[in-house]
Amino acid sequence: MALVSAPAGAGEAPRPLIAYAARIAGDGARTRIVIDFDRKPDFTLHYTADPNRIVIDVPETDFGFGEHDLAATGLFGEIRYGRMGEGASRIVMTAKKQARAVLAEVQSNGEGKGFRLVIDCELVTPEAYVAILNKQQWTGSEKVVGGKTDRPNRETVDKKPADGFVVAVDAGHGGIDAGAKGVSTRTEEKVITLEFARTLVERLNREKGIHAFLTRDKDEFISLSERVVIARQRGAQLFISLHADTLKQKDIRGATVYTISDKASDALAASLAERENLSDGIAGIEITDEPAEVTDILLDLTRRETQAFSIRMAETVLESFEGQIGLINNPLRHAGFRVLQAPDVPSVLLELGFLSNPRDEALLTDPEWREKVAERLAEAVGKYMESAGIARGG
Ligand SMILES: [Zn+2]
Repeated sequence: MALVSAPAGAGEAPRPLIAYAARIAGDGARTRIVIDFDRKPDFTLHYTADPNRIVIDVPETDFGFGEHDLAATGLFGEIRYGRMGEGASRIVMTAKKQARAVLAEVQSNGEGKGFRLVIDCELVTPEAYVAILNKQQWTGSEKVVGGKTDRPNRETVDKKPADGFVVAVDAGHGGIDAGAKGVSTRTEEKVITLEFARTLVERLNREKGIHAFLTRDKDEFISLSERVVIARQRGAQLFISLHADTLKQKDIRGATVYTISDKASDALAASLAERENLSDGIAGIEITDEPAEVTDILLDLTRRETQAFSIRMAETVLESFEGQIGLINNPLRHAGFRVLQAPDVPSVLLELGFLSNPRDEALLTDPEWREKVAERLAEAVGKYMESAGIARGG
């Protein structure tokens, strides 16, 4: 079942909609969600399986209501909402069992009082849910979101040849996927990674012969594979993904550098990669299996070569951090991070520290510390270039 509301008619609004209030009520059989908007929200609704989710796409929206107003209740175990890309936002409701919307419509709050999106959901049998999934047209591609995720700006800008050694700086998470939350200040990981990435790009671009850019430059959701595509399109020769996750063990602190590997170096690395890889799922994008490319000998060779460079970069980062930036035990680890999967771009994922540790959290939110780490990373990139025999032509 795909429900589509009537077109707004007035054309695309330049400023985001404002969702100023929300409420949810219900039990394990029926649950109602109501979200108040300042203007009429066009929306589409679709379902995903494993996990069972109801995904509602709306135009770009500022969600202004409190976190608790739409806390998961009744049929739902988790509800997330946020920006998806240019002009699009999304609400993802993860059901504890199979649930479907029996009513989904926009109602007027009365003259000049905005509109409300009302979604009534009820429990359905697994068989009925399969029938709903089979009937819907949705393909699972993020391209459908608002029909606007072609990102023309990025495409055209990307073709511009860059000067020097090209570094993609990837701010982890974004938009609907907020990542981890700080243990004392509740600062979101997506905010920390973006601020950090901006500082790092600026610092790297002060270096002769280096051209750095951001995979995302605002609070928006970008899928893991899209991050890789953006990096490759813009000719990245190095990919650095920035994160600051949480751990159950609150006493663990310090930075870690990860490279990709089919087999995780340890349990901590495995669980982190698993969590990072959930990003696409959080946004309601169905994860398809990796294409089987292992038979391609050339590609395999490229991968191995790339892997060697990735490890070299990771080691160089640790050398530059040594004695200056706190590191965890065994700070060089590996696991199957999907964002590090470019076969031909050396890639590392840097966990700057852990938001589960109050002292790390204080550093992660400190602009001075950010500058210091960016400085060390700029040094590491320089050393990496030297060791890889890349000239600083400029
Ligand atoms: Zn993360």
